[in-house]
Amino acid sequence: MKNGKCPKCGSNSVYCGDEIPLKSGPFGSNSIPVTLVSIASLDNYVCTDCGYLESYVAEQEKLEEIAEKWRNTNEAETTDPEAD
Ligand SMILES: [Zn+2]
Repeated sequence: MKNGKCPKCGSNSVYCGDEIPLKSGPFGSNSIPVTLVSIASLDNYVCTDCGYLESYVAEQEKLEEIAEKWRNTNEAETTDPEAD
């Protein structure tokens, strides 16, 4: 999607909202919680032909924080000795 092509319908009508105001901050709607004290703002990419939306974490430091704090989905499947 970042390359300007919609992965759903193949359209090139992809628009990026990475420069809109209010995408970060405690009252911004364009962010996700990372930890109790940390939120990550998002860059949205929208296809104006089919309406498909993709969101990307905007800041590299937040990606590193997520990798440190969040549950790794691959580890969850392979490291639990109790799992069937
Ligand atoms: Zn599309």
